[in-house]
Amino acid sequence: MSTIFKKIIDREVESEIVYEDQNVICINDINPQAPIHLLIIPKKIIETINDIDIDNKHLIADMVFAAKKIAKNLKIDKKGYRLVFNCNDDGGQTVYHIHMHLLAGRKFTWPPG
Ligand code: AMP
Repeated sequence: MSTIFKKIIDREVESEIVYEDQNVICINDINPQAPIHLLIIPKKIIETINDIDIDNKHLIADMVFAAKKIAKNLKIDKKGYRLVFNCNDDGGQTVYHIHMHLLAGRKFTWPPG
């Protein structure tokens, strides 16, 4: 099974790739919810955060490490940003290939909507 994100990773669907390393890519969200709204996506398809296990948990660290580097490059590290995983229906997940949202460029409220 493929996903829209896998097709972007495989260059079957066009998207501006902001960052790429061995295990993850980062793209602009097509429907941005903040001035900066990026998606950090593992190259391996994992459907939901519930599917993280002992063999793939390192990918979460790779995603967070990429986010840290991207935030520094974009000079948003000091001011701040938000990292979000949505899981399944109540979490608001719409693409079943895990991804971490990196949101920045405005002040976020808590609790989230
Ligand atoms: P989620 O609701 O957490 O599953 O997030 C999925 C995100 O993927 C949404 O914010 C969408 O706007 C975004 N999205 C869907 N298709 C694309 C695409 N082709 N390129 C970039 N972002 C996309």
